[in-house]
Amino acid sequence: MGGQQEEEPSVRLFREYLRIRTVHPQPHYDGAIDFLERLSVELDLPCKKIEVCPGRTIVIITWEGTDPKLKSILLNSHTDVVPVFEEHWKHDPFAAVKDQQGNIYGRGAQDMKCVTIQYIEAIRKLKSEGKRFPRTIHLSFIPDEEIGGQTGMATFVKHEEFRALNIGFGLDEGLANPGDAFTVFYGERSVWWVTVRCQGSPGHGSRFITNTAAEKLAFEEQIQKWCQDAGDGVQYEFQQKGMDQQVTSIDKSNPWWQTFSSTCQKLDMTLQCEIFPAATDSRFIRAMGYPAIGFSPMNQTPILLHDHNEFLNERVFLTGIEIYRSLIPALATVSPLEGEA
Ligand code: ZN
Repeated sequence: MGGQQEEEPSVRLFREYLRIRTVHPQPHYDGAIDFLERLSVELDLPCKKIEVCPGRTIVIITWEGTDPKLKSILLNSHTDVVPVFEEHWKHDPFAAVKDQQGNIYGRGAQDMKCVTIQYIEAIRKLKSEGKRFPRTIHLSFIPDEEIGGQTGMATFVKHEEFRALNIGFGLDEGLANPGDAFTVFYGERSVWWVTVRCQGSPGHGSRFITNTAAEKLAFEEQIQKWCQDAGDGVQYEFQQKGMDQQVTSIDKSNPWWQTFSSTCQKLDMTLQCEIFPAATDSRFIRAMGYPAIGFSPMNQTPILLHDHNEFLNERVFLTGIEIYRSLIPALATVSPLEGEA
């Protein structure tokens, strides 16, 4: 056989998704939507498309639970990826090259096309085993996360269709961990992007990060004062102004967290709980009052999101599918909570 081993179908699918150029500034979203629709047919699960802004469509694939009145599990991922500086890559960032060590190179390999395919493949396996769970599972695929989410998740969460998902708990992206532990995010830093305009010339945006609401109010006063001091015709405008301080509880009082963490414990995984160092679509989910955890199952992996030569090893990728294969059933079987039954 020439030493060539058959590639796992899950790995093949991951590499196929990496080749769809959903890269800013002009993401090929139609390619991603066709791909996801095909997967929904393969999984024999209904697929819904909701255009939240012109050319910006959310895809939802739903696996209905045996007790669909119960709150659902949301498995969220974004479909877009950030631009590349191709000259710094050792392989074409959209060719999904796999090297001798099994490292798969591609923009989105960590952020976050891996997670999308891991959700899909875990569900494919569970379905093929004839499993069903009490709670409904929704997979959501979101555009424009990488440019701030305003034309993606931020708009979608205000839709009737979002409310109708009846979410109990959400999973979204996290980050790789170079060590043996897996990092889990239960909150995020708030993002403030301010543009200062001076005499009609565009200023430059800066990102400011603070931790408390009180500090932030004081900070805006300072911006106002700087603009006044600079003279007439100076205005500032917020591109983004995150005021939401929602974090998801990671103590025993939260049954979702309890289930998530005990399942990981059974799998012998060490969890490292952190506040996300930037912002993801989870902030919009939490701001609506739903608990959400940021988790991308990648340990023993350098953090390469948005970096040159972003890669994920196929072994780590495949282990991640097995992790979701335990997590998804556990979460979709959480006993009815107060007010639910
Ligand atoms: Zn991301």
